[in-house]
Amino acid sequence: MGAGCGICHGRLGPIHYDEPSDNDHPLSFVIDEIKPVSRWKEFGYASPEAAAQDWSNLQAAHRCCNAWKRDRTEEELRTIGIGKKRDVTSGDW
Ligand SMILES: [Zn+2]
Repeated sequence: MGAGCGICHGRLGPIHYDEPSDNDHPLSFVIDEIKPVSRWKEFGYASPEAAAQDWSNLQAAHRCCNAWKRDRTEEELRTIGIGKKRDVTSGDW
């Protein structure tokens, strides 16, 4: 707890750990699977559960970053350019 967002690496500021879990605040805390669980076979896991329970595969993230990342890896995000597809300062939130 208290860690920064593993997806934007603090670009969007600290994670709002104090937001209630039922709050849809874009900067609230979610658990992100570094290697997407939906692609467990690709990453050599025995099952989707194994991927979801691998602590080394989990990181803290902003809700909005996690929603943007979906089932892509960080490497794939880099190839499309992190942050290019959205503008959090536009006030759409
Ligand atoms: Zn973030």
